Amino acid sequence: MSKTLIVPCPTCKTLVERNNENFPFCSARCKGIDLGNWASDSYSIKGESAMSLDNLEMDDEYKNIH
Ligand SMILES: [Zn+2]
Repeated sequence: MSKTLIVPCPTCKTLVERNNENFPFCSARCKGIDLGNWASDSYSIKGESAMSLDNLEMDDEYKNIH
């Protein structure tokens, strides 16, 4: 039984076979684009959302305690 696994490229949705050297991406280009997006997204989350989430959690704790 050799079933070929095929998934859509996370960047451009082209179907990619498991034996592709860039799996799960269709090409090195899509791989680089996705990694670039992920890196910039995580930086903005760390800079903004993470801080506001911490503040919200602290506010809730204060409300419960007092
Ligand atoms: Zn692609």
